[in-house]
Amino acid sequence: MNALRASEAVGIMGGTFDPVHHGHLVAAEAVRAHLGLDRVVFVPAGRPPHKSDSEVTDERHRYLMTVMATVTNPLFTVSRAEIDRPGPSYTVDTIRAFRQVVGERTRLYFITGFDAVREILTWREPDVFLRLCRVVAVTRPGYPLEEVEALQRRLRAETGTSDPLSILEVPALAISSSDIRRRVAAGEPIKYLVPESVETYIAKMGLYRPGRRDLHEEAVGG
Ligand code: NAP
Repeated sequence: MNALRASEAVGIMGGTFDPVHHGHLVAAEAVRAHLGLDRVVFVPAGRPPHKSDSEVTDERHRYLMTVMATVTNPLFTVSRAEIDRPGPSYTVDTIRAFRQVVGERTRLYFITGFDAVREILTWREPDVFLRLCRVVAVTRPGYPLEEVEALQRRLRAETGTSDPLSILEVPALAISSSDIRRRVAAGEPIKYLVPESVETYIAKMGLYRPGRRDLHEEAVGG
């Protein structure tokens, strides 16, 4: 995170990325272009507070796959902030740490999936979090407009800010990590759903295949 220079507008792309896929990449690029962001920093969740350890692949694999997936875009970087910070990965702590590095003048946008944003008022210190950044929820077309408007009203009331949440429709988000995990476990192809490097890494490490945990742990020194 030290390498993050102060800039006008920075996107922080939060997700478990288990695994990262083309939907995430297209969504990050769509938000970057739409808002004219200077860069997007992908932040793989270290220990997601709402998930058990056994539900989530080792963070070192998720981090490496995210690095491989983003390497070809000079405006994308990957942060180890949540991987290296001990304890549950509360987003407010991450945004606070970024805010300290970039200062007050840089606009910070936290980008993530709309389904995660639905629960935002249950996250740790939502009022602080929502004052530190704007939230951009990405979703496939056809999201429930009334629900979004109701959430926007609640967030405005909670934070006192006029525009705490934006929504961007991204058709490529028909791709999902859970479907990719299911496909690998069933021996189905994932070609073109993830970058080739990620596809190769998943196959080499035996990720998402029942009974291959020994290989995962050996590979990352666990
Ligand atoms: P999740 O519950 O696994 O995912 C919910 C939905 O959102 C899934 O359909 C998921 O699709 C999608 N999604 C997640 N991240 C996305 C992204 N960056 N771009 C597009 N779609 C995305 O959500 P999660 O990944 O664990 O959490 C999302 C973010 O919210 C993370 O940064 C997490 O740390 C944060 N969060 C914070 C708290 C807290 O601070 N208390 C609580 C919950 C979540 P895919 O599975 O295909 O990605």
